[in-house]
Amino acid sequence: MKTLGHWIGGKPVESVSGSFGPVYNPATGAQPTQVSLASVEEVDAAVAAAKDAYASWSQSSLATRTAFLFKYRALLDARRDEIAALITAEHGKVHSDALGEVARGMEIVELACGIPEKLKGELSTQVSTRVDVSSIRQAVGVVAGITPFNFPAMVPMWMFPLAIACGNTFVLKPSEKDPSAAYRLAEIATEAGLPEGVLNVVNGDKPAVDRLLSHPDVAAVSFVGSTPIARHIQAEATAHGKRVQALGGAKNHMMVLPDADLDHAADNAINAAYGSAGERCMAVSVVVAVGGIGDELVARIAERAGKLRIGPGDDPASEMGPLITREHRDKVASYVTGAAAQGAEVVVDGTGFTVAGHEDGFFTGVSLLDKVKPGMAAYDDEIFGPVLCVVRAETYDEGIALINSSKWGNGTAVFTRDGGAARRFQLEVEAGMVGVNVPIPVPVGYHSFGGWKQSLFGDLHIYGNDGVAFYTRGKVITTRWPDPADAGGINLGFPTS
Ligand code: NAD
Repeated sequence: MKTLGHWIGGKPVESVSGSFGPVYNPATGAQPTQVSLASVEEVDAAVAAAKDAYASWSQSSLATRTAFLFKYRALLDARRDEIAALITAEHGKVHSDALGEVARGMEIVELACGIPEKLKGELSTQVSTRVDVSSIRQAVGVVAGITPFNFPAMVPMWMFPLAIACGNTFVLKPSEKDPSAAYRLAEIATEAGLPEGVLNVVNGDKPAVDRLLSHPDVAAVSFVGSTPIARHIQAEATAHGKRVQALGGAKNHMMVLPDADLDHAADNAINAAYGSAGERCMAVSVVVAVGGIGDELVARIAERAGKLRIGPGDDPASEMGPLITREHRDKVASYVTGAAAQGAEVVVDGTGFTVAGHEDGFFTGVSLLDKVKPGMAAYDDEIFGPVLCVVRAETYDEGIALINSSKWGNGTAVFTRDGGAARRFQLEVEAGMVGVNVPIPVPVGYHSFGGWKQSLFGDLHIYGNDGVAFYTRGKVITTRWPDPADAGGINLGFPTS
C-alpha cells in the first residue's frame, strides 16, 4: 500500500505522526493508499516553511510571479489527463467530469496570470496642495486552505493560485479522502519554478485543521466544505484574529415554470442532479415544478434517469461513477427509504444497485422522489448523492417563497421562456449564484463564487475580484513633497486643503 505524506518546503516530507487515514478507490472498494494525518508539529513545520518563504515571495516582482503562473498553466495543461486520472482513482467521478474539474480549476490560474492588472492600485493627485494619495493592496501573509473531497483539484485551485499571485504563501490541507490530486498540484508547482515553501501541502484531519485555525502565523483561512464545519472554521479562526471565508453546504433548487421547454428542463435536471453522482455543492437537488407541469416533467426525468450508464469512472462508457465511501452510499440510501416512509413518492429507486464485476465498489443508482415537502429529511438535509426531489408549487410566488425559506442559498436556477419572469426571479431569489436556463451557474474564474445564508460564513466570495480582496489588505499612502520655497510652520488644525 502506498503512503502519502506531506509536501513542505518544496519537497516530500514523510510523516512521523504514526496516524493514517484510508484512501479508497470507490469503484473497487480497495484501499490502495493511506494518507498521513499530520501531528501539530508537522502542521507547525508547514507553517514555518510558508512563513520563511513569505519574506522573499511577498517582495518578489509581479514579473517573477506571473512567469511562474504562466509556466504552471502550461504544465497543468500538458497534464490534464494525469491529474484527472488521479481524481477518478480516489474520488470516483468519471474521467470526462474530472477533466472538466481540472479545466475549471485552471481558470483561476489563468486569472492569476493577469494579477498585475488586479493589483494596479489607485492614485489621486493634488488632493490638497502638493498632496497625493495612493491606495495599494499588499499580501496578508501565510494563508491556510482547507478543502473538501468532492473537487480534490478544482477547489484547491480556487485558492492557492490567486493567493500566491497576490504575494502570500500557502498551506493547503486537502480532504483526507482523496488527497493525491492536490499533492500532485504542489509537485507540479515546484517543477514550474515556485520557490520552496511558497506552497505546502499538509495532510490530516481535524487536529491538523484546528492547529491551522489557532496558529499565530496563519493570517487568513479559506475553507470549502460542509455547513457545520464551515461554521466551526469561521468561529475558531476569527476568534484567533484571522480573516476567514468559509463556504458551506447547499440545497439547490431549480424552478421550472409552466412555459418552459420540458425536454430541455428534464435534460438539465438530469445533468445537474446526477452529474458527479450528485456530489457537487452546486448540484440541483430539488426541482420546483410550478403549475400543472409536475406529472409530465417527472415522467420525462424518470424516463431519462432509467437510461443512465453507471460504472467505474475510468470506463469511457460510464456517465456516473460511485460515491466516495461505503458509509456515504448507505446514508444516501437511507434518505430514499426514509422519504417513502415520510410520504414521498419514490419514482425511481437507486438503492441496492451494483455494477457487475465491481460488487465491492461504492455504487448507487439514481433516485427520483416526487411530492416531497419541507419537513421530510430528504428535503431538509443536504443528501450529497444522486437523489433528486421534486416539490410541487401552484404558483411562482409559492415556489419562490419555498426557495427563499431554505437555510441555504448557494446556487439556484429558473427554467422559462419568459424574460420578465426570469428577471423577477433573479432579483427576488435569495441565493448567491443564479442560473437562467443554466442549471449549475458556477461563475467563471473572473467573477466570484459564493453563496448566501448558511452556504457561506464570512463576507467575501472566493476567486475573482473578491478573491483578490480576500488575499490582500489595503494600504493608503498620503504623500507631500514640500516645495523648497515653502515656509512650513506649525498648525494643529485638521488639514482640509
Ligand atoms: P467536510 O466539511 O466534511 O470536510 C471539509 C474539510 O474539513 C476537509 O478537509 C476535512 O478534513 C475538514 N474537516 C472535517 N471535519 C472537520 C472537523 N470536525 N474539524 C475541522 N476540520 C474538519 O466536507 P466534505 O464532506 O469533504 O465535502 C462535502 C461538503 O462540502 C458538502 O457539504 C458540500 O456542499 C460542500 N462543498 C461546498 C462548496 C461550496 O463552494 N460552497 C464546494 C464544494 C463542497
